[in-house]
Amino acid sequence: MGSFVEEDNPVIWRAPLLLGALQQFMEDVLWGDLDYLLLDLPPGTGDMPLNIMQKLPHASLLIVTTPQITATSVAGRVGKLAEKLNIDLLGIVENMSYYQCSNCRNREYIFGQGGGKELAEKLGTELLAELPLLSKLRASSDQGQSLLFTEPESDIAKIYLKIAVKIIEKKKI
Ligand SMILES: [Zn+2]
Repeated sequence: MGSFVEEDNPVIWRAPLLLGALQQFMEDVLWGDLDYLLLDLPPGTGDMPLNIMQKLPHASLLIVTTPQITATSVAGRVGKLAEKLNIDLLGIVENMSYYQCSNCRNREYIFGQGGGKELAEKLGTELLAELPLLSKLRASSDQGQSLLFTEPESDIAKIYLKIAVKIIEKKKI
């Protein structure tokens, strides 16, 4: 929707309008021959995640969480929702697992440690990766560039690649 509205203009829509847009997005867009379609959803078990799980029954869910309990409890509810709707759970990615100093590479576990692993165990799935907080990751994302292309040999690029490979393996028919 960001492509259709002016900059700084909020999209103030309630559920019926949102669902109409979702319907158009799924049925009227000429997607072409896709390998994968990734939908980045807001956290929680609101209208959008629920509708997408119901309208795309062959979809799979990848849960992204930060380590602290406030985040993993919300993510856990989404996992349970997927389970109820028979949506396949691909695994957990723990984001912001630690801050890594760019000088000495020391790891600081700002948001606590082990939340993603605990959640994976609770939901009977795999912890696919623990992603660090890195200044250069933020900077490259802000510029719309992926470190996978600009620094393919970096540790962080390798972690992302590992996630992708695991998901592709799980989605093989
Ligand atoms: Zn340091």
